[in-house]
Amino acid sequence: MDRSRNTQLRLLSYGVIAYMMLAFAWWSVLLFIKNRDAYEAKRDTMRLMMIAREEIPPTDEAFYSTPAFRELKKRYESQEYMILGEASVFVLSLAIGVWLINRGYHREVTAARQQRNFLLSITHELKSPIASIRLVLETFQRRELPKDKAERLIHNALMETERLNKLVNDLLLSAKLDSAYQLHEEPVNLPQLVEDIFEQMEAKYPQASFTFNKQTAIEDTLGDVAGLTSVVINLLENAVKYSGEEPDIEACISQHGATIRMDISDQGIGVEDKEKSKIFEKFYRIGSEDTRKTKGTGLGLYIVNEIVRAHKGKITVLDNQPRGTIFRIEIPVVREKGKQPVTDNQA
Ligand code: ADP
Repeated sequence: MDRSRNTQLRLLSYGVIAYMMLAFAWWSVLLFIKNRDAYEAKRDTMRLMMIAREEIPPTDEAFYSTPAFRELKKRYESQEYMILGEASVFVLSLAIGVWLINRGYHREVTAARQQRNFLLSITHELKSPIASIRLVLETFQRRELPKDKAERLIHNALMETERLNKLVNDLLLSAKLDSAYQLHEEPVNLPQLVEDIFEQMEAKYPQASFTFNKQTAIEDTLGDVAGLTSVVINLLENAVKYSGEEPDIEACISQHGATIRMDISDQGIGVEDKEKSKIFEKFYRIGSEDTRKTKGTGLGLYIVNEIVRAHKGKITVLDNQPRGTIFRIEIPVVREKGKQPVTDNQA
C-alpha cells in the first residue's frame, strides 16, 4: 500500500516537474520571439526617424554603421544571451533537483528493504535456536535417554546457544560501532591469534579443511584483540557458510614493509562484481529473504569492515581461482612507544 502510494507521489512530482519544464521552455521561446520583435520594431523606427531628420542617407550601410544602431544591437544580443542563460540555469537546477529526489527515493527504498530483511532474518535467527533448545529440554523432561543420544542433544543445544550468543554479540558490537567504539589497544601477534582461531574452527567444522600459511616474519602490532578476533571469526564463518558441503579454506599472512596483509580464501560460491562494495553495508545480504538458504543477519561484514577501518586498515574482496572469494585485509603495523620492533620469529 505504502509503496504504491510512494510511487504515485513520485510520478505526480515527475509530472509537475515535466509540466514546469515544458511551460518554462514555452515562456523562454515566447520571450525570445518578443525580444526579437521589440528589437526589430525599435530598429525600424530608429532608422525612419534618422532618415526623416536627414541624419543619414537611406542606405543599409549608412544606418548599420551608426553608433545608435550598434548600441541597440548590442543590448538586444545581451538580452538574448540573458534569456538563454537563465533558461539553462533553470533547466539544470530542475534536472539536479530531479536527480536528488530520485537518489533520495532509492536510498529510502534500499534502507527500508534492508530493514525488512534484517527484521525477518533476526526474528528467524532468534526463534530457531530457542525452539531447538526448548525441544531438547522437553525431550529430557519427558524421558530417560541413552547416554550417546543425550550427549548428541546436549552438543546440539550448546551449538544453538553459541549461535544465539554470537547473534547478540554481533548486535551489541554493531550498536557500539555506530556510536563510540574505543579500540582497546594491546600488542597482538596476528599469526598466533589466527592459529588459535583455526584450532577452534577445526574442532567446530570437522568436515572443512583449514590451511594456515605464514609467508614472512610478522611483527607484533598494537591492536584490539577482541575486535581482530571478531574479524577473523566472521570471515572464517562466512567462508564455511558460503562454501557448500566440504569447505576448503586458507589463511595466508605476510608482512610488506609496515603493512600486515591477511588473505582469507575459500573455494565457495564467490561474490559477483556488482555486489562487492555492497556486502559491507549494514544488514546487506545478497539475494532476498525469501529465496536465500543460508542463515545470517548481514551484520558480519559490516562489523569486519568497521573494525578494520578503526585499525586504519582496509579490506578488499577478490575472486579466488578457480572459484570462490578472497577477503584481503591490510593493516598498518603500530609499534608500542619506545619499543624496538619484535618479530614473532624472534619472540
Ligand atoms: P550474513 O553472512 O549474516 O548474511 P555478512 O555481512 O557476513 O552477513 O555477509 C553479507 C553477504 O555477503 C552475505 O549475505 C553473503 O551473500 C556474502 N558473503 C559473505 N562472505 C562470503 C563468502 N565468503 N563467499 C560468498 N559470499 C559471501
